[in-house]
Amino acid sequence: MTNKELEKKLFLKKESSWITYNQSEIETAIDFCENYKTFIDNSKTERLCVKYSINILESRGFKNLKDFDSLKTGDKFYKNIKGRAIFAGIVGQNKESLNIVGAHVDSPRLDLKPNPLFQDSELALLKTHYYGGVKKYQWVNQPLSIHGVIYTTDNREVEISIGEKEEDPKFIIPDLLIHLSQEQVKKEGSVVVEAEQLNVLVGSIPVNDSEIKEQVKFAVLNYLYNTYNITEEDFNSADITLTPSGKAMDIGFDRGLIAAYGQDDRVCAYPAIEVISTLDTPEKTALIFLSDKEEVGSPGDTGADSNILLNLAIEYKELLGLTKDAHLILENSMAISSDVTAGVNPNFKSVHELNNAPILGKGVAIVKYTGSRGKAGAHDCGADFVAYIRKIAKEDNIPVQTSVMGRIDLGGGGTIAKHLSSYGMNVIDAGPALLGMHSPYEVASKIDIYSCYKLYRSFLQR
Ligand code: MN
Ligand code: MN
Repeated sequence: MTNKELEKKLFLKKESSWITYNQSEIETAIDFCENYKTFIDNSKTERLCVKYSINILESRGFKNLKDFDSLKTGDKFYKNIKGRAIFAGIVGQNKESLNIVGAHVDSPRLDLKPNPLFQDSELALLKTHYYGGVKKYQWVNQPLSIHGVIYTTDNREVEISIGEKEEDPKFIIPDLLIHLSQEQVKKEGSVVVEAEQLNVLVGSIPVNDSEIKEQVKFAVLNYLYNTYNITEEDFNSADITLTPSGKAMDIGFDRGLIAAYGQDDRVCAYPAIEVISTLDTPEKTALIFLSDKEEVGSPGDTGADSNILLNLAIEYKELLGLTKDAHLILENSMAISSDVTAGVNPNFKSVHELNNAPILGKGVAIVKYTGSRGKAGAHDCGADFVAYIRKIAKEDNIPVQTSVMGRIDLGGGGTIAKHLSSYGMNVIDAGPALLGMHSPYEVASKIDIYSCYKLYRSFLQR
């Protein structure tokens, strides 16, 4: 063997998937991403995403778990967790262990406070509380839409969704003009725009009645009353969110990238839904878990740091009449925690250590460990399970790039991996690399999104 041949054998190659995939597969990938764009446009919140996912699942023969008296091999079920998280599965030949793909469907955003509405300077505004990790200055001067649900004391569920259609009004948080910003621009980035300044404009035309003290606020409340039959107090029991307005966009002359709000982590939720809803009966039971509240640490009744997966496993084993304990079924399972990571941004390369940083277009980023500083709080996947993922990726010609998130001691992050692994199952993080994560327009490569779909399929069909 010449040294040149030996070099080919010994060195780790990281090639662009646009080069390594053949033309017909590239066309498949681009078509797949057209459907993905429709999915993400209809999934601005976790509630909308769960609703849209249920539509896909039901149209492909999945039934609500509560409508089953028993389960058998080949059955396709889903479980809706309070409209904010969802499981979907297909019972395999081997029922005593699961192959799980878990993503999250919540994204950073601005939530309304419980008492949001006020009038100031002849304008009506809503007070917000940011959700998840955001650079607050990115959310001003940005067309926003309102999505959410209000529950009234007369048992109505009122859905609000304004600002996505072209003819809809939009909402905006006005930034300070440059002319008067000498003090503002000297501030640190985290306080250039402060949290309590994230008040969004919702009205400006007063009611023409001198008897009324707050005439603009009155006009807004009157509009809401006439349109939705709600009063100011009903905001107390509402989950209402402001998200960037508008649809996913192709980026670049070649259209190889997608910019969209909420790709973290619906860019993983969509491949997971597509795989499970088109899968033939697998060898082991296949399950996807689209969780909520990941962006605030996965707490609560819909987050991964709860018993909802265990509860599902208990229901599952009882419907199948299995004698094995649900804990042991989960311990015996394995999972891909499908979440995004930070791709190399040519404008900010110094935050990465480039030997271990994922490049857009070079495949699914396999993240062996997360956490920060000395791996604190990390989920660190065992090397044997990393090898298993490498092996299935090789067998099915799926490009992957093993990487970590950024330079050591700069920051870090976590996913649902550690919550899944608390049952004792093998778990690894894998998903596409993004640019501008948590911003109003996160950027992903179409070819990586397709590679994720292929990896999740390869994993779940076994
Ligand atoms: Mn995420
Ligand atoms: Mn995130």
